[in-house]
Amino acid sequence: MNRSGSDTAFAAAKRVIPGGVNSTVRAFKGVGGTPVFMRSAKGAYLTDVDGNDYLDYVLSWGPMIAGHAHPDVVRALQEAATRGTSYGTPTEYETELARMIVAAVPSIDKVRFCSSGTEATANAIRLARGYTGRDKFIKFEGCYHGCADPFLIAAGSSALTTGVPNSKGVPAATARDTLIVPYNDAAAVRAAFEHNPEQIAAVIVEPCVGNMGFVQPLPGFLAALRTLTREFGALLIFDEVMTGFRVGMGGVQKREGVLPDITTLGKVIGGGLPVGAFGGTAEILDHLTPDGDVFQAGTLSGNPMAMSAGIATLRLLSDTTFAHLEGLATRLCSGMAEVFRRRSVPHWVGAAGSMFGFFFTDGPVTDLAGAKTADTALYARFFHAMLDRGVYFAPSQFEAGFLSLAHDRAEIDRTIELADDALAATLQ
Ligand code: PLP
Repeated sequence: MNRSGSDTAFAAAKRVIPGGVNSTVRAFKGVGGTPVFMRSAKGAYLTDVDGNDYLDYVLSWGPMIAGHAHPDVVRALQEAATRGTSYGTPTEYETELARMIVAAVPSIDKVRFCSSGTEATANAIRLARGYTGRDKFIKFEGCYHGCADPFLIAAGSSALTTGVPNSKGVPAATARDTLIVPYNDAAAVRAAFEHNPEQIAAVIVEPCVGNMGFVQPLPGFLAALRTLTREFGALLIFDEVMTGFRVGMGGVQKREGVLPDITTLGKVIGGGLPVGAFGGTAEILDHLTPDGDVFQAGTLSGNPMAMSAGIATLRLLSDTTFAHLEGLATRLCSGMAEVFRRRSVPHWVGAAGSMFGFFFTDGPVTDLAGAKTADTALYARFFHAMLDRGVYFAPSQFEAGFLSLAHDRAEIDRTIELADDALAATLQ
């Protein structure tokens, strides 16, 4: 496969953009080689600058659940654009998308929009601190909540593959207020509460993790977080930026029947445009300015283009579409597991809704320590073998995969066949 256009584009980008990318994971540090520069996308496929097509299991890191350039989303954007792209005033688009979110996500009475998942989690922590009058919060090792300072302690996603899970530039004073515990370890959460009496504002968690690879909560873990936060007077924040409208209409909270105090959202609710949101009970959310005294603002918050794309995307989703997507994800995972088994490769696979993942290690993987036992060198070789066969998986072992409404059974089955071929070539 000729990718010389990407090589040229990357060299040009590096001269004017640090590392040639505007988000670290895109640089292929986790797998080596040159990132592929895309020119367009349609349905389940990406097309690069050399004209090569790739079946896309990254989907812009989650948002594109409708598939790329879905006609409904494109039409909504065209109509919105002709009316102006930003007004800096309230609009009815925001109320409409807020209503759709409130109707679907069980713990949300009110929701505030911003422009990224990072803003959503940063605002959620500020709200929890303002509400409780406490400064510290608990975060789980390997969970990623965006690139704001307080979250870059033992962070997942690209912070893992660049080898800087604790970024330089984060003040020690900031880091001191982020308490780190292993994922799925409720006893460690209790110990953190007991060692920091009346100081912990919140526990923030990816209720199903996509950022140390795909890791599910053990039975009872989320319920234990709910019990512990109540017992110690802290708020429970589910970071559903990735899982919201991804694992099902009501997120992980609906699947697992555990309701947080605050939920953060992003990705799918913007249909591929920059967006974030945080919501919860009216009692907590009303502490935000202008009615309350916890500040939040944003020039492009609730932007009409992002709201329009989000509304059009959510209109395509239902319990029925999620049942269909989960069927595809399960088919993909069991097919991949069969290939790995046949080729004697240690593995652990999992899926929830339209999200999935696989590790090259003997499972089960329940936390970051387990995820780190994965054979990243084998993953890198497998990733490149798949890329050469026209399949775009995440360029890191420590990321989840995603399916869209544009993927079908034939593509899943073809992926499994190609995986067998790729693995055979990889293991030679
Ligand atoms: N929270 C989670 C769970 C995420 O997966 C991400 C991004 O991948 C974020 C927060 C940050 O979102 P954004 O990249 O839009 O700032």
